[in-house]
Amino acid sequence: MKSIGLLLLGSILFIACKTEKPPVFDILIKNINIVDTYTGKVINGQTIGINNDTIAQITSFNSAKNWTGNQTINAKDKFIIPGLWDMHVHFGGGDTLIAENKNLLPLYIANGVTTVRDCAADISPSVLKWKKEIQEGTLLGPYILTSGPKLEGKNSIWPGDLEIENEKELGQALDSLDKLKVDFVKITDNALSPELFLKSIKEATIRGYKTSGHTPFELTISEVSNAGLTTIEHMGYMLKAASSQEDEIIKDYKNGKLSYAEAQSLLTQTFDTAAAIAKYKKLSSNGTGIVPTLIGSRITSYLDQNNHLSDPELKYLGPGLIKTYDWRVNRANKASQEAIESRHKKYKKMVSLLPLIQQSGMKIIAGTDAGFLNSYIYPGFALHEELQIFVEGGLSPLQALQTSVINGPKYFGLTAYYGNVEKGKVANLLILNSNPINDIKATKDIYMLIKKLKVYNRTMLDELLKKLASEYEKEIN
Ligand SMILES: [Zn+2]
Repeated sequence: MKSIGLLLLGSILFIACKTEKPPVFDILIKNINIVDTYTGKVINGQTIGINNDTIAQITSFNSAKNWTGNQTINAKDKFIIPGLWDMHVHFGGGDTLIAENKNLLPLYIANGVTTVRDCAADISPSVLKWKKEIQEGTLLGPYILTSGPKLEGKNSIWPGDLEIENEKELGQALDSLDKLKVDFVKITDNALSPELFLKSIKEATIRGYKTSGHTPFELTISEVSNAGLTTIEHMGYMLKAASSQEDEIIKDYKNGKLSYAEAQSLLTQTFDTAAAIAKYKKLSSNGTGIVPTLIGSRITSYLDQNNHLSDPELKYLGPGLIKTYDWRVNRANKASQEAIESRHKKYKKMVSLLPLIQQSGMKIIAGTDAGFLNSYIYPGFALHEELQIFVEGGLSPLQALQTSVINGPKYFGLTAYYGNVEKGKVANLLILNSNPINDIKATKDIYMLIKKLKVYNRTMLDELLKKLASEYEKEIN
């Protein structure tokens, strides 16, 4: 009996061992340091197996010595993080610039940006087409989450909007966005009445959309947040919210007791740290986040000191897109010395809000406003500068990184798929030469990028840049 028992046990063990063949992966990354983007801890010497565009398994290098891959990357002493998210970009400038906009896609990839949130403009059909092709793997570019055309009032200054004047038109506009299968709804205030602005947030939210917007001056920031706005775009609005008397000042502006300029100046004078934190806490509890786009503010605020005409990144952009930069540059050039100084002051003040916002628990989400019109905010490159500004403003490198790789997917409810290098997450990955938790500038020091099961080493990423530069050089000659 005893010997039969042993024999049986032996066969079971034999079968068990035999069925556990060493796994083979589509891509195998060996001996890498994983940066946990939630804690900032570095898990040294790990091996990552990727299958079907997803992280299938992770274990220590020593326990995975028999793993193999159709492609193998030896990544000793390198650091891996998720691909970066730029949560505020634009594709636009009219149909004549479609080809130049399409050329921005590899620019994001070459800079490690694997997801962008397109915040509306005038070439939505092309953007939606690229989104699909990128997802199918037939076009190289970042994963695009797009608002499609944004909601505005009649005759707004922005081209390509869905212009609405009443609730019926709002319903029709949202129906058309449903049909386009957009990822969120962008609403701006150039010609939209404050009432319809609030109604638009509410109706879009009822249909299950996240919303994003520029907020009407006649409304307090709390009012738009209470209505359900999920992200406020641009830091200036957080300055308005930081006034201890925002409610009273806006009320006086609305009933004509104050002019716009007087109200603005009073809002600045009544800045109060405690009021700011209390307000930000309330916005946070409503689920409203802020996309500061400080790189854009810095560039426009300091055009008096930097003309950017010899920026090396210009060679990667088409002449038509560069031409759209004139609008803001010309406006800035007309500014008085006083206006220039107040712009510098405002920029510094906005940067100083970062730690207050972080402390309040409100989500800071990294976005750049790169694309057309917004002068010298270079697609892909600018995201790294935005993260560096966050650190200069007082966030830790880990917090800065989280604004992109965690708060981006969190906005869309996608943290089950993105946000960290973990089993089950989409394999949009960035391998860096050094640790971004020690120095945020490490995000620029890219060793390799993985997206859609393709591995791009530094040489291949540089080739993408070179190809763009040579294309435009030809056009100039
Ligand atoms: Zn924008």
